[in-house]
Amino acid sequence: MLDLFDTHTHLDADDFDADRDLVISRARQAGVRRLVTIGIGGSAATRAAIALAEKYDFIWASAGVHPHDAKVPVDLTELRQFAAHPRVVAIGETGLDYFRDWAPKDLQEQWFRAQVKLALEIKKPIIIHSREAGQDCLRILEEEGASAIGGVFHCFSEDAAFAAKLREINFLISVPGSVTFKKAEALRATIKAVPLEQIMLETDAPYLAPEPNRGQRCESALMVDTARCLAALKGLSLEELGTITTATAMKFFKLI
Ligand SMILES: [Zn+2]
Ligand SMILES: [Zn+2]
Repeated sequence: MLDLFDTHTHLDADDFDADRDLVISRARQAGVRRLVTIGIGGSAATRAAIALAEKYDFIWASAGVHPHDAKVPVDLTELRQFAAHPRVVAIGETGLDYFRDWAPKDLQEQWFRAQVKLALEIKKPIIIHSREAGQDCLRILEEEGASAIGGVFHCFSEDAAFAAKLREINFLISVPGSVTFKKAEALRATIKAVPLEQIMLETDAPYLAPEPNRGQRCESALMVDTARCLAALKGLSLEELGTITTATAMKFFKLI
């Protein structure tokens, strides 16, 4: 039986307001049996993510401050309470985004370091959002001693040498639907070179729908197409690929 784990989705997004429960049931029917919904964007959004994780026993949440939101005042005491919630399995997504650059770099870094410290304190892994900021993210993670807790670079877009450096500090990568895009040959070559045990799957829904649904609203059920692409790169059946990447994710989120 197909058993996939969507390790990064934004189920609280407005895009799902009309049919959120249907989106969740379609994921299960398609074989995406577990999900982590990312709790960023302020108190109400994080609370909504945690509420979904309380409603469904196969959904867990994260809690964090996205680099785009680094300008928005956040109550660190409240974030610490969210982070300690039993259904919250990771901190983030946090990191640095130099591509959009919506918040000043020093504020992004401040929030990033605070969340690495929080992750170390409460012993939950970190979900990293990095755009055009790989080297700085790596340096900060090393400076903060993040290897003691580990984490994942989501929507991985660096090269295989960078993935190897992440492996040394106990970090995984996760692969979204963009790996299926026609022009993503370089990313496919990278993913092919990265050891499978370092890889998890994600949608980043409602964004990044894989082919053949590119450009449409993404939802977890569509992750089967991403998994099929990864299985082909690794020379495995879809089911085998699902079993291995789901086991990696279960261990990563400390669910086994
Ligand atoms: Zn992100
Ligand atoms: Zn995201």
